[in-house]
Amino acid sequence: MIIPKKDKLSIEELKKVEQIASTSECTILEIQGRNRCVYAILGDETQEVMFKRIAGLPFIRKVDRIESPYKLMDSRSALADHRVKVGSMDVGKDSPFIIAGPCTIDPANPKLFLETAHALREAGANALRGGVWKPRTNPYSYQGDSQALEIILQAREETGLPIDVEVMDLEQLKLALDVKVDVLQVGTRNALNYSLLKQIGHLSVGTESAVLLKRGRHVASPNEFIAAAEYIVAEGNPNVMLCPRGTTPALDGYRNHPDESISPLLKNKTWAPVVVDPSHSVGHSDYVMACSLAAIAYGADGLCIESHIDPAKGIGDDPKQAVCPNKIKEIIGAAKIIWNKRYVA
Ligand code: PEP
Ligand code: MN
Repeated sequence: MIIPKKDKLSIEELKKVEQIASTSECTILEIQGRNRCVYAILGDETQEVMFKRIAGLPFIRKVDRIESPYKLMDSRSALADHRVKVGSMDVGKDSPFIIAGPCTIDPANPKLFLETAHALREAGANALRGGVWKPRTNPYSYQGDSQALEIILQAREETGLPIDVEVMDLEQLKLALDVKVDVLQVGTRNALNYSLLKQIGHLSVGTESAVLLKRGRHVASPNEFIAAAEYIVAEGNPNVMLCPRGTTPALDGYRNHPDESISPLLKNKTWAPVVVDPSHSVGHSDYVMACSLAAIAYGADGLCIESHIDPAKGIGDDPKQAVCPNKIKEIIGAAKIIWNKRYVA
């Protein structure tokens, strides 16, 4: 990783670096953070001469060499100090970052979503979630509707809260970017869809849209999870949050196998904030509070929780999984207590 002395290399400086890299058949990728750019060397990085020549350029502060399968996500990378911001919130800095909202927005009943949004703002949530397009196991279940995007945009307008929307393909991604969705969610089913991850990383470069990457349910070891995030960052968007959301095999009685316990591992291996989804982990509203607090105790930076003002009237996962906004308020209160007391390694 190349770190320049100034915030960004000029076109001429970048050309010089690229020339040196090309003699070793490497290319340079510019990664744009909010405050400065760093540059990754892609290709065979064992070329000692190339490193020395780049490090010797007068406008280069240093060249870091990291032996890691995910050199950009690695906590030792030049992005180690990178902060992910969503709206006005610096994720993981002062208090738990709470995303809350229904699993699925019901386009036939916008009022329910808007009332939920207002109640969640009152409860202290920092961002609103709401499924517009839904990945459903059964092809005959409700699949989502682009009309719901208008509803969540209205909620953002009315509450001032940033919004989190899952995208599953290029068309949805473009629609979401057009309206400046604040958090692009990648669901568990697409967590290892490398083409989509690359498209998201590439098209969101230079935007304010962060990405909430869920952990793949079927096969994702922590390293595989981090490598998936690397795909997004390697395209140039470093604003990635890692979201454990339960994995297989399910614990009898829970929807999945709760995995908030990998939070400290992820935080140790990477610099990225960890935002745990307790709702899909346990799959039942009764257990969401315990799972949320466990996640914060484990060092998570935030939570993504399904919440609905009247869960029984919700669609998607809401009737079984969503908690009411007053429960969100309770969770936030208790999470802050743990947050302020927890041991920080
Ligand atoms: C969701 O957030 O509603 C969702 C479908 O999540 P996951 O991809 O984790 O199942
Ligand atoms: Mn859901």
